[in-house]
Amino acid sequence: MTSTDLSRRAFTFSLAATPAAAAAASLATTLSPTASAKVGGASVLATPLAQIKIGRFEVTFLTDGYTDMPFGYFTGRTPEQVQQAAADIFAARKSGIRISFNQYLVNDGERLILVDSGPAGKIGQTGKLPGALQNIGVKPEAIDAVILTHMHFDHISGLVAGGRANFPNAEVYADRRDVKYFTDPAKRAAAPDFLKSSFDASSEVLRHYPKLQQTDGERQITRGISIVDLTGHTPGHIGVRIEDGGESLLLVSDMLFHPSVHPSAADVGFVFEQDPAAALTMRQRFFPRAAEEKALIAATHMPFPGLGRIVPDNGKLRWLTAEWAHQS
Ligand SMILES: [Zn+2]
Repeated sequence: MTSTDLSRRAFTFSLAATPAAAAAASLATTLSPTASAKVGGASVLATPLAQIKIGRFEVTFLTDGYTDMPFGYFTGRTPEQVQQAAADIFAARKSGIRISFNQYLVNDGERLILVDSGPAGKIGQTGKLPGALQNIGVKPEAIDAVILTHMHFDHISGLVAGGRANFPNAEVYADRRDVKYFTDPAKRAAAPDFLKSSFDASSEVLRHYPKLQQTDGERQITRGISIVDLTGHTPGHIGVRIEDGGESLLLVSDMLFHPSVHPSAADVGFVFEQDPAAALTMRQRFFPRAAEEKALIAATHMPFPGLGRIVPDNGKLRWLTAEWAHQS
């Protein structure tokens, strides 16, 4: 039996021991058959959209889906240690650690800017971004720009659908170092098999978006939206800072993978990292700095919507989920 099972049982047991809880439980039993039939439109409409305001910007959190990463895909620890770290926060599944693929839609009042586009069905339960956009009434043609945080397939594959550019009116931005790396046939030949899909997806993107703008270092994309250099995970791994009216949000992509290991253990990495030493250095630099600045950050693979802060906790660092519902 896992510790999760044990605590769940203990909790259920103590609930049933109090008369009020027993009454609530029996009410739930009475209501559940018809209540579940009635849950439909109304409850969906009442659910808050994962959306926050940063000054004049409206940032909507979307997700292409999720997958379970085997414990052994995390580096710097044994699979058993990673499993235990996940179990400690009730996140150990038989199939590993469930990670999300989050995207961000930024509305500056004039333009719609999408950050990353998801794996689009190439891994796990993904391919949900088009439906997520449709749900909020955004047509692919309405996207004015897409900023790619790096050229791994799980961030760029949604740009192409059915052999066509999925966002035909979008200007696409990616760091020059990543474009160079992921379109280099020699680098592809030398890469392990599981990385080759990122090379192939990069070529696809370049073919369908020949005007893709290659950026160099830190720069502003449009007023209040700028690129932050977070090289390490890939040569051109970047973050996106959204800043207005004294508020800011930093979209940090693959700086943190999951709260079971990050930010508490900067030395835990991931097999997909191009340069593990550079990725480690960047995490060691970024985690304490983000904590010091109390920066509001959002990370692609953290549990949806991936919004939170890095905070000090007894000499270590901890992930603290930020409120997002009812913030607008
Ligand atoms: Zn990623």
